[in-house]
Amino acid sequence: MSTYEATSPPEGATCQSDHCRSAAVVRLIIPRPRLTADGLHTHADAITTWDNCDLHWPGFRDVCVRSGHTVLDRTGDLRELASASPEWAIFASDGGRLYASRRLNGHGTTVDAYLVGPLRAQMQAVDADVRD
Ligand SMILES: [Zn+2]
Repeated sequence: MSTYEATSPPEGATCQSDHCRSAAVVRLIIPRPRLTADGLHTHADAITTWDNCDLHWPGFRDVCVRSGHTVLDRTGDLRELASASPEWAIFASDGGRLYASRRLNGHGTTVDAYLVGPLRAQMQAVDADVRD
């Protein structure tokens, strides 16, 4: 079992699922233990990445998790974000989508993302609007 790391893909990255080519929202970093000549695993530099759009990511993530792998969000920690943002209600769906909502002038505003970093950026954009 391995830990796969999820992070934001570089600008312009596209989904690697078959025939998709949509804009990628999550890059998964997958360590590839290599077999050496004597049959021992090494955890050297063999790493592969897989970019996912918002349509393909939930299914791909689900397959990884059901295969026993841990998917670690490298862009931030959800509990840390929640405790640093008491005015926001933050929760995650079963599919791994993250939501943050707060009330502004009596109206609810909700932003969502698949990674903590982009979620935080959207929350900060809303907070900046409030201060204007
Ligand atoms: Zn896709």
